[in-house]
Amino acid sequence: MNPRATPQPPPIRLVGIDGTVVPDRWAQGCGRCTFGLVHPPDIGHRPLYSARRIQFERGELQLCECRAGAAYAILLLKYSEQEAQR
Ligand SMILES: [Zn+2]
Repeated sequence: MNPRATPQPPPIRLVGIDGTVVPDRWAQGCGRCTFGLVHPPDIGHRPLYSARRIQFERGELQLCECRAGAAYAILLLKYSEQEAQR
C-alpha cells in the first residue's frame, strides 16, 4: 500500500435490521429519528434484529412517523410473525 496515496473514506453502507444493505438515504431516518426509531433503547447483548423485535413486542419502541419509521414497523411486524410461527 502506498503511504502517500490519498486516503479514501470507506464507502457508506447502510445495513438494515435484517442485515441487508439499505439502499436509500430516507431509511436512515428523518432527523428526529435514527432508522425510524426515536430514542431507541439499548439492545444489550442480543443480536440487533432479535432485540428490536422483542422491544417492539413489549411496546418499548417509539417508531417515527416518517417513511423510515413506517418501513421499520413493517419489518418488525414481519419478524414478529415469523417468530410466532416457530
Ligand atoms: Zn423519522
